Amino acid sequence: MLKIRKSIHESMVNYLDRFDYEEGGVLLGEDGVIDEFIPMTNVSSMKQSLYKMEPGEWLQIFKKNKDRILGTIHSHTVKLATPSKTDVSNLCMGITLIYSKQDKLVRAFKINRNISWFEDDIEIIK
Ligand SMILES: [Zn+2]
Repeated sequence: MLKIRKSIHESMVNYLDRFDYEEGGVLLGEDGVIDEFIPMTNVSSMKQSLYKMEPGEWLQIFKKNKDRILGTIHSHTVKLATPSKTDVSNLCMGITLIYSKQDKLVRAFKINRNISWFEDDIEIIK
């Protein structure tokens, strides 16, 4: 079970809703509680269907927050909020959150790189 502070959940969704293509960012926190969201630029050449973090931004955030990184989030614009093939092969730092703009829903996944994924529950806390 993953926990997210209500204010962080809202700011993530508001941020991701601002774009008509996939966007995302890094999730920080401790003891399984996400308490910070840092947006990161999508540098994919196919932003409508693929989220790719800007490597320089990622490195900076990683260096600064190594011990607090719990995972990442990115949006899906038309697809459902389940990991795509690319997500399963690329995004495997901690937990992967996907926000479906179609369903207005955030879901959490644990991904075994290139193998499989399963869904984890999210609890929104104060
Ligand atoms: Zn995806």
